Amino acid sequence: MSFSYDTKCELCTIKLKNDCCKLSQLYGMVLFAQNIGSDSLKITTENVLIVNLLSELAENVAGVYFVIDETVNLYTLEIKGDALKKLYDILYITVNGKIDLLVSGVLTENDCCTDAFLRGAFLIGGYTSNPENSYHFEISTPYYTLAMSMKDFMQRLNFPVRVIVRKSNYVLYIKDSEEIERLLYRIGAKKSAFAFIDMKIQKEMNNYSNRVNNTKLHNIEKTINKSVEQVKAIKKISEKIGLDSLDSDLMLAARLRCENPDKSLNELVLISGNKFSRSGLSRRLNKLTEIALKLGD
Ligand SMILES: [Zn+2]
Repeated sequence: MSFSYDTKCELCTIKLKNDCCKLSQLYGMVLFAQNIGSDSLKITTENVLIVNLLSELAENVAGVYFVIDETVNLYTLEIKGDALKKLYDILYITVNGKIDLLVSGVLTENDCCTDAFLRGAFLIGGYTSNPENSYHFEISTPYYTLAMSMKDFMQRLNFPVRVIVRKSNYVLYIKDSEEIERLLYRIGAKKSAFAFIDMKIQKEMNNYSNRVNNTKLHNIEKTINKSVEQVKAIKKISEKIGLDSLDSDLMLAARLRCENPDKSLNELVLISGNKFSRSGLSRRLNKLTEIALKLGD
């Protein structure tokens, strides 16, 4: 399955010890439902562990039950009527014709509850990309006021959240890999956070070795191009005026190059038995190119 899916599975296994946190996590899950109405609340998920967790929390904390509908790869949990009213009351969600969708300070006050709330929000509205491909964490909601309130809430926790609109959803997202690690760790996805760091390091190492290999290849290519050019020049000199017309050092340099067209300058120096210095040989090979150039076509 995906990195995001695995992360959510890990979060579902966390045992919530405090009643305050159970309430906050349920609050996060309900608030980031895809459909929040005054007489119906609908939450969809593809993850059966989330279905179980949500049902358990609703029963445990509010004594209410979701009706679960299962279609191919998707579960819809719905709650209506008095049960919904009870759920809203417990979560301080007020309905006066219009639902007040702001992140409540009451249910996110303690540090433990802040984390539980974020975890709940991520489980229902969240997604985190596979760090092998990109760094992207998001929580989305179709409700504008909730998105803005969540943005403030997360920014107060020093997470650099931005918002975009995508298909009538407000998407709060983070691209900074270190902040994503911090957030995953904070909501309790420790295994995922470490896997994230591991993959990031692996990716950076691969990028580094690719860069090194590219540089090496580039250098080899440069050497070969230069050598081809020099051999051509020497051939031209040989045909037009003969290599005998050159002084002995130039002649030796010409022979060295023609006999070893695939060798670098350093290697040629070694083959010559250090008769030339690197710069001395380079100067002579350049001189040969120069002479050929003067000879015209
Ligand atoms: Zn708590």
